[in-house]
Amino acid sequence: MQLNILVLPGDGIGVEVTAEAVRVLQHVAAKFNHTLKLTEGLLGGIAIHKTGGPFPAETARLAAETDATLLGAVGLPEFDDIAPEKRPEKGLLGIRKALGVYANLRPVKAYTALIDSSPLKNDRIEGVDMIIVRELNSGIYYGTPRGISGEGDAEQAVNTMYYSRPEIERIARMAFELARNRRKKVTNVDKSNVLEVSQLWRKVVLEVAGDYPDVELDHLLVDNCAMQLILNPRRFDVVVTGNLFGDIVSDEGAVLAGSIGMLASASVGPKRPSGAYVGLYEPVHGSAPDIAGQATANPLAAIGSVAAMLEYSFGLKQEAAAITGAIETVLNSGRVTADLGPEGEPATTPQVGQAVCEAIT
Ligand code: NAD
Repeated sequence: MQLNILVLPGDGIGVEVTAEAVRVLQHVAAKFNHTLKLTEGLLGGIAIHKTGGPFPAETARLAAETDATLLGAVGLPEFDDIAPEKRPEKGLLGIRKALGVYANLRPVKAYTALIDSSPLKNDRIEGVDMIIVRELNSGIYYGTPRGISGEGDAEQAVNTMYYSRPEIERIARMAFELARNRRKKVTNVDKSNVLEVSQLWRKVVLEVAGDYPDVELDHLLVDNCAMQLILNPRRFDVVVTGNLFGDIVSDEGAVLAGSIGMLASASVGPKRPSGAYVGLYEPVHGSAPDIAGQATANPLAAIGSVAAMLEYSFGLKQEAAAITGAIETVLNSGRVTADLGPEGEPATTPQVGQAVCEAIT
């Protein structure tokens, strides 16, 4: 298969972890006989330095031409005090918008070797393996009218929660398609006992479910979901929800797994003519200026993002599984970076990348 990928290392440890993610990608492509076309572009602080803006037109052009984008992280302390629209982080919003990605996928997986770093008791977290699918382009964050008006006792604020049928339908389909390749269970999360938007949401999810008779569907109100993520996280396979609820429950899911250096994320959009899904793949963490340039950053979130890319954008399940299996092997070997608290001398960022390549069978 031809894998046409844009690489945006960004700033700080983004550059270091992306180098290891690319190393693993090249290794997997060679091993499984795929043709890899990598193009490197600028985003964030480095783009401001070289072009004057955080999201150059050239990067937008490259993103439109490639099937999937691998991003490191953006942000440099020297820009901390300038206006938000001129900051490196503005580049993130720019590329998400340009790609039209509408589904944010957050895999939450409990690795045996890291089980003690979870805030939950071991028997609760063992075996947890879920994906939270959050709608990214609509809902209360974008609905109008919005704003603050009036003065004194008459001062008031409004936001609008809005979803249209097509917006719900496409995110529901994404969740059911993902579930088909997993344990075949979708949990829909909404607030349909109170909100009309959630009533439409649930109605459309139920209709879409009719096309996936092989996938089990259940529903949770968002308040109950927040509880069940702590009480019984193993019950979840694919969770689908709107923008606001997804923002909250995906962060709750994230802490179940332990270190921030382990968390990958994927934002997926429409299908390209090549058959691949447009996708933006990035670690959840930022550019970590406090440890940048020291070769101590954990590259496993970035490497996990490559696994997500191969699975979601290109449908390469076996290749993705080879990477996640190798991550698990490396974790079990204890050859990990300082953030994971290894018993002996911590490994460096390149050593972990190399170890993952060696563990890919
Ligand atoms: P951060 O995620 O960069 O760092 C938070 C803490 O976690 C730091 O102590 C850091 O050393 C540690 N950490 C993060 N990733 C790690 C890794 N892979 N291995 C080991 N330790 C790791 O968040 P922050 O410090 O709040 O933000 C720093 C900069 O990154 C800011 O400019 C911020 O705006 C930006 N940021 C960017 C993104 C993104 O690009 N998606 C996300 C969050 C923050």
